[in-house]
Amino acid sequence: MPVEEITLMAGFKVDLADVDESAISEIHRLFSEYKRIVNELIEYAHSHGTTSYLRLWYAKYHELRQRYPTLPSHYIYTACRCAASIYKPFMELKRLGMCEKERPAFKGRAIWLDRPLFRLDAENRRASIVLHGGRWVTLRLLHGRYHDKFKGMRVLVMEDLKVYKEDKGSRELNGRLHRWSYRRFQRILEYQAKLHGINVKYVDPAYTSSICPICRGELSQSPNGCRLMKCWRCGLEEDRDVIAVKNLVKRYYEEVMNAKTS
Ligand SMILES: [Zn+2]
Repeated sequence: MPVEEITLMAGFKVDLADVDESAISEIHRLFSEYKRIVNELIEYAHSHGTTSYLRLWYAKYHELRQRYPTLPSHYIYTACRCAASIYKPFMELKRLGMCEKERPAFKGRAIWLDRPLFRLDAENRRASIVLHGGRWVTLRLLHGRYHDKFKGMRVLVMEDLKVYKEDKGSRELNGRLHRWSYRRFQRILEYQAKLHGINVKYVDPAYTSSICPICRGELSQSPNGCRLMKCWRCGLEEDRDVIAVKNLVKRYYEEVMNAKTS
């Protein structure tokens, strides 16, 4: 099932009161080494004229692994991505004559973390990061009301419009594809839903307005109204959009149940 994600950002301050001195100094060391590595990668990108993080990774990974043997190797991967993400837009600005500097410098105290380096326990408001030698340190997150939105998100099901693009011959599709702004509306709705603690899942919408959500019988237009569809098998008669929504929700739960039992 194609799934599209919208990411919500949340900033946290961390409480270091329970963290021992050696872990704090290891965290400081991690930040300063990471900054040094990113700047070295930017230097390499500049001298070799590359904006690709993969090229940086191929060229520098082994050397950096040897020089930082206790640093978890995935930090080098994220440092390559971080360096490329700084260098590439910089070069675009430079090409447009909007930047006078020779090359950018990474000055921030920031680390690009992703899954192998970071664990989040949103329920208990704890985050862990891996330090040198593979040691993990857990930090307590200081939070406000905004952060509560991320706990126990509920689900809102929407049709996956990308499926339509692959099947342009579908009659069901054509009317809806013309409503090009619908996709944009979905994204706004998804953002708002997530802000209110509702998670969003996309479901393949094929045939959702032509199959009965109760008995799976074939629907046809009702004689009682142009938007109404009727199932001649079980007698259901309802607005076609309401039927589509019922089928989408049903399909989502069927997919969840199939995933659990397979
Ligand atoms: Zn029916």
